[in-house]
Amino acid sequence: MEERPVLFSSQAFRDHEEVVFFREPASGLKAIVAVHSTAAGPACGGTRFHAYASEQEAIDDVLRLSAAMSLKSALAGLPLGGGKSVIIGDPERDKTPALLEAFGRALDRLGGRYVAAEDVGMSPQDLQIVARATRHVAGLPAGPAASGDPSPLTARGVLRGIEAAARFKLGRETLRGVRVGILGLGHVGSALARLLHQAGAELVVADIMPAPCEEFARLGARVVEVEAIVAEPLDVFAPCALGGILNEVTVERLQAPIVAGAANNQLASDAQAVRLFERGVLYAPDFAINAGGIINVAGEIAGSYHRDEVLTRVDAIGETLRAIFMRAERERRSPHFVALAMAEERLDAARKLRVESGARAA
Ligand code: NAD
Repeated sequence: MEERPVLFSSQAFRDHEEVVFFREPASGLKAIVAVHSTAAGPACGGTRFHAYASEQEAIDDVLRLSAAMSLKSALAGLPLGGGKSVIIGDPERDKTPALLEAFGRALDRLGGRYVAAEDVGMSPQDLQIVARATRHVAGLPAGPAASGDPSPLTARGVLRGIEAAARFKLGRETLRGVRVGILGLGHVGSALARLLHQAGAELVVADIMPAPCEEFARLGARVVEVEAIVAEPLDVFAPCALGGILNEVTVERLQAPIVAGAANNQLASDAQAVRLFERGVLYAPDFAINAGGIINVAGEIAGSYHRDEVLTRVDAIGETLRAIFMRAERERRSPHFVALAMAEERLDAARKLRVESGARAA
């Protein structure tokens, strides 16, 4: 059956300022750039290189992810808007320097309204190739203001979020002896596991790949099956693999009183936020707790990267979460909805400011 992508009629599409489709047959480039908001600054977000099952899936993914970037940057108080891009293809097979350069030329045509960074399927080295054709790229491994791999900073922000959640929910002043289950030991999950180990937490880990599990087993972590980790008797469940992990089934099986992890789009739908709240589980909104990477990249986009300033801002994620948890308690609703409201309030303020300064300039 012919595939008919859903565009203007979808809610996700309607919220966007601009969505651009790029195609370059010579290199095989097929890419979509979604600019959700530039109210607070240039739209920034990663480029995902993925073999999507359908064009609709690619469109849905880029729209969802770009809107989440606006919320993330607004909540972190960054002078950035939200955007995201996807390249449709198998990174193992289709990622060539010619394609990456073609992507760079495409980005350049957007004149800086969108700045690309790293995401699944794209490394800082790939971005360096994209950067041959445009300066609107961040998260580079080398250069005057290069910020490099954002994952360690994302992990540090998640650690601060876990500390804030453990203090709020469990009254624990340190993470010593706190049992944390990490699902996904990739760039962020493994960095988080090392930080938690240093902080004296007890680790339970799961990943589809055996190698990272073995590494952390040597540090004393208990390795469990991927499907089993949500039902483990944990203090904190930290999803650090793919999105959608909190669904109708897993939310009911969850034993931990806290969910605080790095994965984007952890909730399969808003209904799961409601259900977690009903079950008394404290949920650290993903776009609040995993902002360390974008904070790091923002330092680079500003033109001069100052490590100390970046670390101070990343550490402030703990304070942001505490404010979210307190307001959620006052308003008797899930921290997810509170974080959404806080981000929307800031986005609205940025939009208003832009309209006012436009009117003044006219
Ligand atoms: P990654 O690809 O390096 O790691 C993902 C890990 O999850 C891998 O070890 C993989 O084997 C494992 N995995 C994949 N599918 C799994 C499954 N079904 N069950 C269990 N494990 C599975 O990715 P990453 O950069 O570490 O990012 C992890 C998550 O954090 C993603 O959702 C990403 O969008 C989000 N995130 C990352 C950053 C960053 O700075 N890298 C920033 C914000 C959010």
